[in-house]
Amino acid sequence: MDEITEALHGTGRVPRLLLHVCCAPCSSHCLELLRQDFHVTVFYFNPNITEQAEYEYRLAEEQRLIGIYNAQIASGDYAGMRYGAGAHEIGFLAAPYDPAAFFRIARGLEQAPEGGARCKRCFTQRLAVTAHAAAIHGFDYFTTTLTISPQKDAALLNEIGEEQGTRCGVPFLPSDFKKKEGYKRSVELSARFGLYRQDYCGCVFSKRTRDSIR
Ligand code: SF4
Repeated sequence: MDEITEALHGTGRVPRLLLHVCCAPCSSHCLELLRQDFHVTVFYFNPNITEQAEYEYRLAEEQRLIGIYNAQIASGDYAGMRYGAGAHEIGFLAAPYDPAAFFRIARGLEQAPEGGARCKRCFTQRLAVTAHAAAIHGFDYFTTTLTISPQKDAALLNEIGEEQGTRCGVPFLPSDFKKKEGYKRSVELSARFGLYRQDYCGCVFSKRTRDSIR
């Protein structure tokens, strides 16, 4: 990602980026960073979240965060932020909520551990739809906030993103947002804005794992 953003500097061009977002805390650092170099549109597509109330709460928190960031741009007040003037307004798109789509791809892998084969399918589903949406809406790049999680394999996510980008004809922006203290920054920003930070990934299987270790 750094090489791509470095190459953009000085061109005067601000590309359009479709950013798959899993939740507000994970996107807090990613948006703080990416809005400097891209016209970012958040894409909320998470059929993996089994409970509708949880899905809607995470969605509402994401929209609240976008509102906070766009208000900073409107006022020019970036107090406490890592990056300041020059940020670009953030847009928003959401796909319809469809948990049945997740259960179709998870079939047979209900007992798989977190980080295993079920998660690979879950990543692929979310990145495939994001790549498709990026192509339909004419974005220059797409990527995902998922690499900020210490529990998620950035190399695997980048491999899947590249495959889906090639399939749909839209470049994937590779990342490992947890690096350079990115995860730590997301925790700081979440506290600063009072964002809801869930303690399980999203699907009913991850929730059961969470419950079993409480
Ligand atoms: S644990 Fe997370 S990444 Fe894995 S299948 Fe469930 S929601 Fe998807």
